[in-house]
Amino acid sequence: ATPVAMLAAIGAAARRGLLIKGGRFLEALARAEVLLVDKTGTVTLGRPQVADVIPLDGWREEEVLAFAAAAERDSEHPLAEAVRALARERGVRVPAVETFEALPGIGVRAQIGGHTVTVGRIAPDGADRLQALAARLAAEGKTVVAVRLDGQPIGLLTVQDTLRPEARDALQELQRLGLRRVELLTGDRPEAAAAVARSLGIPFRAGLLPEDKIAAVRAYQTEGRVVVMVGDGVNDAPALAQADVGIAMGSGTDVALEAGHIVLLRDDWRLLPEAVRIARSTMNVIQ
Ligand code: ADP
Ligand code: MG
Repeated sequence: ATPVAMLAAIGAAARRGLLIKGGRFLEALARAEVLLVDKTGTVTLGRPQVADVIPLDGWREEEVLAFAAAAERDSEHPLAEAVRALARERGVRVPAVETFEALPGIGVRAQIGGHTVTVGRIAPDGADRLQALAARLAAEGKTVVAVRLDGQPIGLLTVQDTLRPEARDALQELQRLGLRRVELLTGDRPEAAAAVARSLGIPFRAGLLPEDKIAAVRAYQTEGRVVVMVGDGVNDAPALAQADVGIAMGSGTDVALEAGHIVLLRDDWRLLPEAVRIARSTMNVIQ
């Protein structure tokens, strides 16, 4: 591709709402065969609502919610906003937080009144009682997290998100355009991932940490394939950077926008096949 053709293509893409950070990403996009997509905030709207608050061991619903909202106060994760919104709605008194730590792909940890409160994933090897309950709730497509006080579970929260309405058709079109290997990659539980993957008609891998998402990208690259990764979260940023073409949702976290090689200025999946078509025609013109 001549530099002039590249610049023209980047300009045309920008007018449609695609920020492309360099000509080499157009080149890679034209040749890409693998498309890896994150779940939460990427194929879903990322505006989840809390569906259930399930207290355990004599704790009260309000207490579970108060601790959870406090621990989630400074988190950028879509799930955190859902928890804070419900606490506000119910007028729950949220305690002060002494320290806060985000654990990307896992959850959050905070010190509250000298106690350690965590909100986050339930590892598949954890306590039996939580496993059975979590699996049942997740099979409904909900994301399930545990609220723990000094390591002891005091309740479960579930949140439900909505699929982006245009994602399914866009994914099918991308497959027709040659991105034949599509996979959903998520840190969520397999049951919740399966429900979303089924709606989209694509395979999935669940329970992935940020480093597992990078490893998935690398494995395809080792086979000599050009990999596109689409994501929005702090947990996706390393994989976006590793991909040949990392694509960030415009509403994504700052680190994802930074790491992405292409940014969707509107969160609209139809921009993705559009980007591939622009890339293809640019490369053809040049040959
Ligand atoms: P995805 O890969 O689908 O975008 P994430 O990697 O962001 O999901 O999160 C994976 C899992 O980690 C979530 O399903 C949830 O169990 C847990 N998690 C991540 N961030 C938070 C948070 N701020 N609060 C509670 N749980 C979280
Ligand atoms: Mg995400």
